[in-house]
Amino acid sequence: MNKPVVHVAGAGLAGLAAAVRLAGGPRKIVLHEAARHAGGRCRSYYEPALGMTIDNGNHLLLSGNCDARKFLTAIGSEDQLAGPSEAEFAFVDLATKDRWRLRPNAGPLPWWIFSSLRRVPGTGALDYLGLLRLLAPGKDAPLGAVMRRGGLLYERLWRPFFLAALNTEPVEASSHLAAAVVRETLGRGGRACRPLVAAHGLSAAFIEPALNYLAKHGVKLLFDHRLRAIDFAGGRAKALDFGGDVVQLDAADNVVLAVPPYAAQGLVPGLRTPEDYRAIVNAHFKIVPPRNCPAILGVVNGTIEWLFAFPSRLSVTISSADRLIDVPRDKLAETIWAEVAKVTRIERPLPPWQIVKEKRATFAATVDQNARRPGARTAFANLVLAGDWTATGLPATIEGAIRSGYRAAGLIAASQKEKGRPGWKTWMA
Ligand SMILES: Cc1cc2nc3c(=O)[nH]c(=O)nc-3n(C[C@H](O)[C@H](O)[C@H](O)COP(=O)(O)OP(=O)(O)OC[C@H]3O[C@@H](n4cnc5c(N)ncnc54)[C@H](O)[C@@H]3O)c2cc1C
Repeated sequence: MNKPVVHVAGAGLAGLAAAVRLAGGPRKIVLHEAARHAGGRCRSYYEPALGMTIDNGNHLLLSGNCDARKFLTAIGSEDQLAGPSEAEFAFVDLATKDRWRLRPNAGPLPWWIFSSLRRVPGTGALDYLGLLRLLAPGKDAPLGAVMRRGGLLYERLWRPFFLAALNTEPVEASSHLAAAVVRETLGRGGRACRPLVAAHGLSAAFIEPALNYLAKHGVKLLFDHRLRAIDFAGGRAKALDFGGDVVQLDAADNVVLAVPPYAAQGLVPGLRTPEDYRAIVNAHFKIVPPRNCPAILGVVNGTIEWLFAFPSRLSVTISSADRLIDVPRDKLAETIWAEVAKVTRIERPLPPWQIVKEKRATFAATVDQNARRPGARTAFANLVLAGDWTATGLPATIEGAIRSGYRAAGLIAASQKEKGRPGWKTWMA
C-alpha cells in the first residue's frame, strides 16, 4: 500500500517547520515552493551593490523564542545564533545624545527596575508598573488605550520594544499581541530576553540546515512549483493544481498551506485573512564597524531604530516604515547614513549602500487585523493552514511562523487515523 502523503505548499519558515516536524514519520512529505529558493521572508541573498551575501532583512530573536530555538536544535544549527550571555541592550537618544544600557536581571522577579544602572535613565521604578495593566485580562484594544503614551519610559523603552516586536506603531497595535510578547520574553526575566542574531546569516542558520535535514529524511523538495489552485469536493481537498501538473489526493493525504495570506485567500474559498500590511525598510552600508560599536544598538528619536554591526557592514532596521516607501532610495540612504555616522561617530561620506524596502513585511498587528487571523483548521478536513499570519497569538515573527508550522504538523499527526497506528505517540514525542 502507498504511504499517505502530506503536501506542504510554501517553504518559508512555517512550511519548513511543518515539514521538519513530519519528516521521518509514517507519511511521505512533499514540499512545493513557488520561488527558486526556500526561506520566504527570512533568507540570505547575494547583494551585488555590496558585493556580499546579506539577509533580506535584519532579524532579531530573543532567547525566549522557544519554538525557533527548538527548530534550530532539530535541524542541528542552534550554534548559528549569537548573542550576549546576559540580556543587555545598548541605546542612544539622538535628540539628547544620552547613551545607556538596559539590563533586565536574569530571573522573573524584575528587580532591575529598582537599579538606576539597569533601567532607562530618567525613569523611576514605579513607572514600570504601568505594564501590569497591559497584562491584565480584558478585551483586545489598541495599545494606546491601555498604556500611558509619551514620557521617557514610553519613548525610550515601550515604543522601541513594541514597534520592533509588532512592526506596527504601538499606539494602534493590538494589546493582546503586545501582552503575548511580554509574557514570553520580558515577563520571564532577562534569561528570556537575550538578543540573538544569526551570526552567519539567516540561510546558514534556518534554511540550508532545514533543507539538508529534509533531504536526509527523504522529503521531496520541489522549487519553482507554485500551487495555482486547489480542487475541493465533499469537504476535502481532492487535487492540487501546479499549472503543468495536477496532483490527485488520496483519502489519507493531507495538505499544509503555508503561503502568505494574500496567496491563501486565492486558494481557499471563503478564507478570511489579514489584509493590511506594514513595511520594513533595511539599509545596509559596506563599512567595517568601529571597534566599540555594540552588536545591536537601539536608536531613539531618529529615523533609524536599530543598528546592527556585522563584520564588514552596518545595517539599519526601520519598522512600520510605510511613510518611507515613496522616499527616493538615494535620499533615504543619505538621511540614514547621516544618523548612522552620528551614533557611531564615524566621519566619512556615504559608503557603498543598499536600501531594501519590504512593502508587505508583516500583517499589521492591529486589533482588527488580529481578529481576521484564522486558526490552523479549515472547513476542509485534510487542509490545514500555517504561516505567521494564522492565529498563533503572536505577532508576525520567526517564532510565530515556526509555531504555526509545528501546530499544523501536530494536527495532521494527531488525526484519527494516525491515532490508530501503533507507536504514533512515540513518534510525536
Ligand atoms: C524585512 C523583515 C524583517 C523582519 N524582522 C524580523 C525580526 O527581526 N524578528 C522576527 O522574529 N521576525 C522578523 N520578520 C518576520 C519573519 O521574517 C516572518 O514572520 C517569517 O519569515 C514568516 O514565515 P512564513 O513561513 O509564515 O511566511 P513566508 O516567509 O512569507 O513564506 C511563504 C512561502 O510561500 C511561498 N509561496 C507563496 N505562494 C505560493 C504558492 N502559491 N505555492 C507555493 N509556494 C508559495 C513563498 O514564496 C514563501 O517562500 C521580518 C520580516 C521581514 C520581511
